[in-house]
Amino acid sequence: MDFKRFFEALNTYGDKSFPDAAFIVEKGAEKDDKGKTLQKYRHLPHHTQSATDPNANGTVDLPHLRNALARVNQVKPVKEGASAFRGRAKSHLQRHAKALLESYKSKGGLTNTEREFINSCKSNLGG
Ligand SMILES: [Zn+2]
Repeated sequence: MDFKRFFEALNTYGDKSFPDAAFIVEKGAEKDDKGKTLQKYRHLPHHTQSATDPNANGTVDLPHLRNALARVNQVKPVKEGASAFRGRAKSHLQRHAKALLESYKSKGGLTNTEREFINSCKSNLGG
């Protein structure tokens, strides 16, 4: 068994079960016959599987959001221009990050994941 292919298959399967709302979807992306955007146009997953609204902060998955913010400049879109896509993706992800940071300020007893996220945002969002 080729482990690299095994994990690729695993990842593809996992991502396919996620709704479009969990990703940053390229403009002009094509959909399959079930109305779901083709996987190659979906990037930077950062919501949980229950996401229905790409702008909702309640379904954001923190480790994925952090990962998405770190990788946004490495995404190579298939259809949309790279700088247009990255600019759009960055402002979308930063909007989530700022809203979540704001909500943590008024919340006591942060989890380790939340604290790590806050620290990583300081460099990504400039304070
Ligand atoms: Zn989002």
